[in-house]
Amino acid sequence: MTARLLEGKFFAAKLREEAGQRAAKLKEKYGITPGLAVIIVGENPASQVYVRNKHKACTELGFYSEAVELPETTSRSELLAEIQRLNNDDKIHGILVQLPLPKALQPYESEVLEAIDPLKDVDGFHPVNVGRLVTGQNALIPCTPHGCIRMLELADIPMEGANAVVIGRSNIVGKPMLHLLLGKNATVTICHSRTRNLAEIVRQADIVVAAVGKPKFVTADMIKPGATVIDVGINRIAPKKLVGDVDFEAVKEVAGAITPVPGGVGLLTIAMLMQNTVAAAELQLTK
Ligand code: NDP
Repeated sequence: MTARLLEGKFFAAKLREEAGQRAAKLKEKYGITPGLAVIIVGENPASQVYVRNKHKACTELGFYSEAVELPETTSRSELLAEIQRLNNDDKIHGILVQLPLPKALQPYESEVLEAIDPLKDVDGFHPVNVGRLVTGQNALIPCTPHGCIRMLELADIPMEGANAVVIGRSNIVGKPMLHLLLGKNATVTICHSRTRNLAEIVRQADIVVAAVGKPKFVTADMIKPGATVIDVGINRIAPKKLVGDVDFEAVKEVAGAITPVPGGVGLLTIAMLMQNTVAAAELQLTK
């Protein structure tokens, strides 16, 4: 059997289209153009590429976009002051601080993320948004897991009552994915580095989400025939070669549906950032 390929390009286009339609409504009804500010501190080349891609996505949808480029030597208080300025700027509906921060600022990462107004927290990392997600309230949700759940919905993969196994328990992917799947009435198990009998647990899953950061971690013998396999991992194994956490070639012969890497989940993240920027603008209207 060869699995149905869940291509990121197709779903990302749909998610961007939705973001564009919601933004058009905001413009028409309230004269609001969604605005996103991305703060980047220092000159990490990978971060610079991400920031450029986010700016490009905003431009394509007609959003207002501001890249705030701060020098490597920026102090904690200067960074916090910049966040405050953006919190108070009505043109800006979403604020994102590009991670990782330079070494000297890393001890303040939580403080920096918590300084963002929760209504403008388009990464969904603020404890207020985390709490809202966990308690099933309207929240700004981290883009990557949110993209995965929207893709499962758009692909008509049944989640209600399904056994879902998430591998990885990070705050960015694994834990929000657990709550999103629970919100869809799946029965969810979350695995991590101390999990015993991981292969046995994964073999029970109708839906597997791999967010481990280890190439070929999920092998074909761990997959129940017909299961849906979502590969969040991005692992660089050579200068120009990216692979996921799933042994794609072998697993696609067993799974019912599978995301490729590259070309899968990675493409959904920026599309969901656009959706979160519109969602933030909508939320701010009601406050
Ligand atoms: P983290 O390193 O923060 O978390 C990895 C998780 O995997 C941890 O919970 C860890 O367990 C678990 N893990 C590690 N080794 C094992 C093991 N042997 N068995 C079981 N579990 C294990 O990573 P992230 O969640 O941030 O990212 C995961 C992957 O997703 C990475 O490849 C990353 O690049 C990618 N990613 C992709 C995005 C996209 O846009 N597509 C966005 C974000 C991430 P423990 O907690 O016990 O240490």
